Parts: sequence; C-alpha cells; structure tokens
Amino acid sequence: MVDTTKEPTTQLDALVIGGGVAGLWCLDALREAGFDAALLESRALGTGQSISAQGILHGGVKYSLTGLLDPASAAISRMPERWDRSLRGECRPDLRAVTVRTEACHLWRTQALRSIAGMVGAKLALAVRPQRLDRADRPPVLADCPGEVARLPEKVIETPTLMRALAALHPDRIWQGTVLEGDARDPERTRLRVEDAHGGTHALVARRVVLAAGGGTPGLLERLQLPEERTPMQRRPLHMAMIKGPPDLLPELNGHCADGGRTRVTITSSTSEDHQRVWQLGGELSEAGCDQTPEALIDAARSCLREVLPGFDPDDERLAWSTYRIDRAERRQGEARRPTGPYVGTSGSAIIAWPTKLVMAPWTAEQVVKAMGDLRPAERPTGSRNGWSSPPVARPPWEEATWH
Ligand SMILES: Cc1cc2nc3c(=O)[nH]c(=O)nc-3n(C[C@H](O)[C@H](O)[C@H](O)COP(=O)(O)OP(=O)(O)OC[C@H]3O[C@@H](n4cnc5c(N)ncnc54)[C@H](O)[C@@H]3O)c2cc1C
Repeated sequence: MVDTTKEPTTQLDALVIGGGVAGLWCLDALREAGFDAALLESRALGTGQSISAQGILHGGVKYSLTGLLDPASAAISRMPERWDRSLRGECRPDLRAVTVRTEACHLWRTQALRSIAGMVGAKLALAVRPQRLDRADRPPVLADCPGEVARLPEKVIETPTLMRALAALHPDRIWQGTVLEGDARDPERTRLRVEDAHGGTHALVARRVVLAAGGGTPGLLERLQLPEERTPMQRRPLHMAMIKGPPDLLPELNGHCADGGRTRVTITSSTSEDHQRVWQLGGELSEAGCDQTPEALIDAARSCLREVLPGFDPDDERLAWSTYRIDRAERRQGEARRPTGPYVGTSGSAIIAWPTKLVMAPWTAEQVVKAMGDLRPAERPTGSRNGWSSPPVARPPWEEATWH
C-alpha cells in the first residue's frame, strides 16, 4: 500500500501515464484547461504504436471503403480540419514544427470495375473525398496502373517530428519514470509511488490519473488496483514489411490500393537518417502477414507490389527489405473485432484512453478534459519539480531494423 506520509509528496491535478500521441495531446489539453498536470513515460515517447504509425491523417475514406466506420463515430471526418489548425499554429497544440510529408495521398485500384468516387462515403458525410485523376496527372509510379487513380486530400505526417513537437511544448512536465505501486480506487484521488530514471522514488498524489499507455494500460490498471474487466483491452497484431532504397528507385508514394472493399496495401514513404527512402507497407498485407515468417511476408509483399504497382520492380537488388511486428492496442470489443472509434472511460480516479487511431488524438484529449468533470484546477503553488529527467523520443522502426 502506498504511504504518502513518509516522503515528500508531489501533488497534481492530473498525472498522464504514457507518452504516445494520446498522452502527449492530453497533457497539452489538460494544461490548456488550467490543470496542474504532468506526464510520466517509462521508456521513450511514442514507443510502440505512435512512432510506428504510418502518419496518415485519415478523414474516414479508408474506413468508408471497407465498411468499418460506424456513422456514430463519424467524428473522424472532422479530424483532418482539426489537425490542420494545429499544423498551421492557429490553435493548441502548436504543431508547426511537424513535418508534413505530403498534402494528399493516392487511392488506386487494379481493376477498372467500379469507380472510386462511387465506392466512397455513401453512408457518411465525409469532409474529404477522393478526386479522380486524369492519366497525365498521375504520379509516375502509378502511371501503369490499370484501374482508376484518385487523389485523396489526407495529409501524411512524419510521426517522430510529431512526438518531438508535442514533447517540446511541456519540457519540464514530461518525466521519465515507472509506477511501482498505487491505488486509484478512491474516486477523489490516486496515490502512487514512482521510480525515476535514477532509481529515486517519489510519492505522488493526483486527483486524476489518465491511463494513456497503449498496450501498457492493463498492467497499470493492475498496479493501481483497478479491475481490468471494467475496461478490458484487445491487441490486434500487424506484421509490417518495409523497403529501403535510393530515392530515384523508390519514389515518394503515400496511399492505398483499394480493390473492392479491401485495402490491399497502404504505402507510406519516409526518409531515413542515411538519406534513403523507406516505404512502410500496411493494410491487409500486414494483417495477413501476422501468421507469416519475415521471409514469407517479404515474398508476399513482392508479389502484392507486382500486382498493385505494375510499373515498379520490387526485385531490384538495390532495394533492402525488413519487417517488424507490432500490436494495435484498443478497448476490447464484443462480437465486432474492430473498434469503430476511440475510447475514453473512467474507473475510480482513473481516466482510461485508447485513441484507436493517431488521428483521433484531439478528440481523445477533448473527452479526457470532459471526464475531469466538475473538478476545478487546485490553487496551490506549482513550484519546480526537481529530480526528474525527460524521456527521449523513440526511434522509428526503420532506424531499428536489420535490412536484408
Ligand atoms: C503500424 C501502424 C500504423 C498505423 N498507422 C496509422 C495511421 O496512418 N493513422 C492513424 O491515424 N493511426 C495509425 N495507427 C494507429 C495509431 O498509431 C495508434 O492509434 C496511436 O498511436 C495510439 O497512441 P497511444 O498514445 O494510445 O499509444 P502508444 O503510441 O502505444 O503510446 C503508449 C506510450 O505509453 C508508454 N507506456 C506503456 N506502458 C507504460 C507504463 N507502465 N508507464 C508509463 N508509460 C508507459 C509507452 O512507452 C508509449 O510511449 C497505426 C498503428 C500502427 C501499429
């Protein structure tokens, strides 16, 4: 049991635990609302999902295509505009430092059976819609594509720059540390004992804890003595293939090959520290790849690219390949396997948040501030909180990979 009488106790209105996109956005929103808040990260900011995310600021088209988006969770359709305002520095968080890789993705089909525009958004009022491209306007890598090609005005951002931009907003409030024990059963306050990066221990009392730790949340619920069955989590695994090569061989490409109701592959481009281009291959390829060895996934990715990008040679020897496995962490669903939207709920004095998509971080933060309910920021001297180091930003998967 935590005894906060034996050591100096730090008091906070809110402690956010987990420094991915959800936690960092929540920290900013809570501080904007006037709360005395801090964030605790046990490893590096964005470790796991956020640093690996393909960075597409979806407006719902992909989910409309595959029938996954419930009209009730159409909040996603207003997210691109919300991000745009932050990316332009017109509202908090100021994200002008984030690198926008492209202003728009491409959406293409390998068959000429049904038009993309006809497939999209019949049920939804989507704020962004694909615009059909004439042959002359196609990017060279999609020139030989037999089906229709459309421009989809959804931005793609470089996620490491997002983590850095969000972290830079509150440098003295983002702390490296691990929860040793705690108790969040009392709806009025959570007591915790936390170990910092130097092995020192700190007693903390927060009126609310925000659990935004992605796949780490079930472990935190247990440590905070909260019943996991009230807010169970599910993991949906992915096995992602990556290609690396010189930019003249591996062109900039961001978008989805959508055949029928399937997103066969989602391709996004980044630049590695050694100035090579990297493609991440997501979508159905990465879901089906979960049961495959890395070698089998790379073979499957090669044959997929031969079909969906007829003008591209995936067998060129100057291309290097790698794969990595990652789990998506979300609120567990009943019968339906995929969540139709983000989740924010409460248990004791904890607010639990799984955004489900990176693009839903602003909505998630709004809901977390709402879940503070009638609490008003406490009047207390905020003072400086010594003894905490700042966590680094996680390295993206292409910098950690072994390339073949
Ligand atoms: C391969 C891939 C591609 C994706 N592409 C997109 C995309 O293009 N667009 C989109 O909108 N979404 C995308 N997503 C989904 C998106 O990445 C996630 O929904 C989002 O990043 C989840 O953010 P999060 O902050 O909840 O969790 P995470 O990013 O997982 O962050 C959790 C943080 O909590 C920390 N933590 C864990 N346990 C503890 C603990 N006990 N104490 C303290 N800290 C802890 C971790 O170290 C980490 O920093 C993608 C996901 C994957 C896996």
